[in-house]
Amino acid sequence: MTGQVSHVSLNNGVRMPILGFGVFQIPDAQTQRAVEAALEAGYRLLDTAAAYENERAVGRAIAASGIPREDLFITTKLWVQDYGQDSAKRAFDRSLDRLGLDHLDLYLLHQPYGDYYGSWRALEELNREGRTRAIGVSNFYPDRLADLITHNEIVPAVNQIETHVFFQRADDQKLMRDHGVQHESWGPLAEGGQGFFDNPVLVDIARAHDKSVAQVALRWLVQREVVAIPKSVRSERMAENLDVFDFQLAAEEMARIATLDTGSSHIVDHHDPERVTWLGGVRFDT
Ligand code: NDP
Repeated sequence: MTGQVSHVSLNNGVRMPILGFGVFQIPDAQTQRAVEAALEAGYRLLDTAAAYENERAVGRAIAASGIPREDLFITTKLWVQDYGQDSAKRAFDRSLDRLGLDHLDLYLLHQPYGDYYGSWRALEELNREGRTRAIGVSNFYPDRLADLITHNEIVPAVNQIETHVFFQRADDQKLMRDHGVQHESWGPLAEGGQGFFDNPVLVDIARAHDKSVAQVALRWLVQREVVAIPKSVRSERMAENLDVFDFQLAAEEMARIATLDTGSSHIVDHHDPERVTWLGGVRFDT
């Protein structure tokens, strides 16, 4: 890798790498190997969740790496079935235990459903007790984010939302900036959908910089100051996705990529009642 991963400062002063490694949909049996390879490639931010059912394997990889704890930034998330002020704290303890850690860097509410108010109060307590250096949310659309901020004490440090060239979230980012919430992207490569890797605009810009489409899309997020956590199980792609700190997209290229926005998700619609009901009811081994 050439070029150093840059960092952002969260609203409580905690520093977070702008690029990390996500482990959604990596089967438990493959996760330890994948995370070891990611750490070897230079990733220091890891993003998991109780609902991914692979926190134990992430923990084993962290332990095996020998990397000092203070050099790592570990995020996990609370699933909806464990929402509520008391159950959230118990679920936090279980996640920490599975990860083999004594504190987290970032703990997120995974979804804006169910008793996310009671859960947020639990996260506020965990943050005040120093058990997680920062707390945040995920999949909060602007209305719910504004409401949560208005009626609680601690402003979320991060909101992790689907963000990629086809769903750019500029208005969401403006609201987050106004409130000091760091924008974090999930699905930064659009999970490979909508012809992502063959998109003519991205292919053209990639050629001009002798970079790949993935690198252009990740660089575009970095230049927008959006934290990104691409997932791959292949070491060569892990290295490729991290190697975005030695080139710069011009304003004209950023403007061309801005034209790719469709303004909506092709992965999950968080306003669809059927999807909301499903997400609220699905159970994991948390
Ligand atoms: P991504 O946009 O990161 O896409 C991952 C896909 O792209 C995989 O199929 C991977 O295949 C492929 N890929 C990765 N790098 C390359 C490359 N350089 N060239 C070609 N193909 C590539 O999708 P994710 O949904 O995984 O999002 C990333 C992370 O965000 C997750 O792992 C998770 O941590 C988080 N997330 C959070 C959600 C939430 O609700 N908060 C929801 C979804 C994700 P392969 O592995 O074979 O390389």
